[in-house]
Amino acid sequence: NDLAFEALTQKLEAVFKRLRGKGKLSEADVKQAMREIRLALLEADVNYKVVKDFVQKVTERAVGQEVMESLTPAQQVIKIVHDELVRLMGPKDTKLNFSQSKVSVFMMVGLQGSGKTTTCGKLGLYLSKMGKRPLLVAADIYRPAAIKQLQVVGEKVGLPVFTMGEQDPVAISKAALEHAFRHGNDVVIIDTAGRLHIDDELMEELERIKEAVTPNEILLVVDSMTGQDAVNVAETFHNRLHLTGLILTKLDGDTRGGAALSIKAVTGCPIKFVGVGEKLTDLEPFYPDRMASRILG
Ligand code: GDP
Repeated sequence: NDLAFEALTQKLEAVFKRLRGKGKLSEADVKQAMREIRLALLEADVNYKVVKDFVQKVTERAVGQEVMESLTPAQQVIKIVHDELVRLMGPKDTKLNFSQSKVSVFMMVGLQGSGKTTTCGKLGLYLSKMGKRPLLVAADIYRPAAIKQLQVVGEKVGLPVFTMGEQDPVAISKAALEHAFRHGNDVVIIDTAGRLHIDDELMEELERIKEAVTPNEILLVVDSMTGQDAVNVAETFHNRLHLTGLILTKLDGDTRGGAALSIKAVTGCPIKFVGVGEKLTDLEPFYPDRMASRILG
């Protein structure tokens, strides 16, 4: 996953290289660098309001006396950019909420193609490595292949999959909880239906499932390669369902990074995990500081 955000990294590297070459920095030097950073972020498809805020904060700190008079001003500017990137994407929030006495319910939502079914398997594997005993639940009843796909994923990660064919997803979810309780599974991961676009029927179904099983976590799976579309999708889902977290998939193929850099700031919802490949082990907790370091190359 060295490819992630390649374009942005290269542009920022060029800006910093010029700054380093200057030795002492004038305010004009810093402002010029900020204009270039602003452009690089916009080209990376970062939300324009987020960019504006970011550049303003970095500029305020960077034109201060401490930086300008420091012996390594370029280094200081880079550090400020790093800090503000971390602040933009953070704070780190990878904690998952489990029930103490009951079966925990993790509800997975997202649009079709976002990687939701794959991510159910990845998360199941992750949880079983934590010592949990997850049950995967096939509640996407509209795409005939979806149930089968979850079964295949379940087999690959060695986890049981609960299916009831094409019945009402609310009934499936409730029955799955019963099943989990009786079979010693302490967490259910519900793979809900996705659509190509957000529609009211989908949202209502998700609300009904939410009401019926009171999830501990409602995690939206979004494709980072879709940039600001991912941010808009997250806003809409968050408004309707009050998500507890985001899982940003396909970061390994995302050369721009706009979604990762703006989704937390725009929605207020933390990125808890990232998908970094097609393999079922390719799921990582999201660390804003590591991501910032990676972006800065
Ligand atoms: P769903 O329609 O949302 O259930 O999406 P799927 O789970 O079927 O995933 C759609 C495609 O995205 C599949 O080809 C997955 O292998 C792929 N995919 C999912 N997550 C990732 C990821 O983190 N990285 C990459 N490269 N591919 C992914």
